[in-house]
Amino acid sequence: MSERWSTDCLACRVNQGIDNPPGGIIYDDGLWRVDHRIDPGPILGWLIMKPVRHVEFFDELTDDEAERFGLVKKRIVQALRLSVPDRPEKVYSILLAESSDCPHIHFHIVPRLNSHPREFRGPRIFGYDGPTIESAKVEDLANLMREKL
Ligand SMILES: [Zn+2]
Repeated sequence: MSERWSTDCLACRVNQGIDNPPGGIIYDDGLWRVDHRIDPGPILGWLIMKPVRHVEFFDELTDDEAERFGLVKKRIVQALRLSVPDRPEKVYSILLAESSDCPHIHFHIVPRLNSHPREFRGPRIFGYDGPTIESAKVEDLANLMREKL
């Protein structure tokens, strides 16, 4: 089993409260944690769902973490769909963990609205560079989601 934390890992830094995403912790049950993207980016509700523990491969999850995963993810997507101001047409779920500062597995849970430019749909959403969402909007969304979870 891997170490609980890695000092070189952005997800671990967030999970330890060293770095703080806007809106604070949306969900944390001791196994899984969900918060908004730390750099809010151009999409309100772009969430990061990750194990609390430093894990680099999905098959390194404990059975408890793996069992909890499905129910937590369902509840998060449901709360997100009920909380974003415009109903998402799709909710993406993407696990890459490719960047050198974050080998920790983390799902990008991204509400894709009808108004989202067609050329930045699907995996191209990572290239979308619209105006950054204001922190206050992220905080409002996080508060709404916490009420629904
Ligand atoms: Zn980590």
